[in-house]
Amino acid sequence: MITVTSARKNYGSFAALDDVSLEIPSGSLTALLGPSGSGKSTLLRSIAGLESLDEGTVHIAGEDVTTVTPQKRDIGFVFQHYAAFKHMTVRENVAFGLKIRKRPKPEIQKKVDELLEIVGLDGFQTRYPAQLSGGQRQRMALARALAVDPRVLLLDEPFGALDAKVRTDLRTWLRRLHDEVHVTTVLVTHDQEEALDVADRIAVMNAGRIEQVGTPEELYDRPANTFVMSFLGTVS
Ligand code: ADP
Ligand code: MG
Repeated sequence: MITVTSARKNYGSFAALDDVSLEIPSGSLTALLGPSGSGKSTLLRSIAGLESLDEGTVHIAGEDVTTVTPQKRDIGFVFQHYAAFKHMTVRENVAFGLKIRKRPKPEIQKKVDELLEIVGLDGFQTRYPAQLSGGQRQRMALARALAVDPRVLLLDEPFGALDAKVRTDLRTWLRRLHDEVHVTTVLVTHDQEEALDVADRIAVMNAGRIEQVGTPEELYDRPANTFVMSFLGTVS
């Protein structure tokens, strides 16, 4: 579904992405896992079109989107610090993308109801973002990103700012959402446990390169090198 080929991104003489190639299968939930500064966000932002590559290409569903603007890539994006519209209710926030696309009202209502139910916010439709907990806000963000049926959902440490208990809950919500909606999802995280718990596939990054890609089992049973072995070995 997403193919990155020979991607390079330099900041001055520093290579944030150093010849990265990666295939993300349709319908998978793939984690980009690696230590801070390894290039995960740069790779995700390049897939989204928020960074332009110095070399290499990005394809989404067979289409070369390397020079296509983010708006035209048909993706949903959720960041660590999600910016909700403060003056809009939960339902209006989730409906926003559908409204600007001028979708018929009943369709909007149905879609919003459906998504808020899946993320456990059906009782919160008329609340304002300030009345939600951090975890509820990120669940709203997931629903909002999915409302317009993007081809791809990109998540950059979406649970990173929250405490451990809420983070664990959100993994369950994300897994459930993914099982219901089946949208191709890429989750950036530096948390080994989160990646192992939630992802079908993991791409381990280090210093701008991909060290290994595989299922959690494959990475554990046959780590490609000592970096992967020691990085995964730090799971508590
Ligand atoms: P990660 O998400 O894995 O923590 P990033 O992709 O954010 O890593 O960053 C990778 C490296 O590139 C880091 O060393 C970071 O300092 C550097 N970097 C990222 N963005 C910029 C930028 N706009 N200017 C200069 N250096 C950057
Ligand atoms: Mg990052």
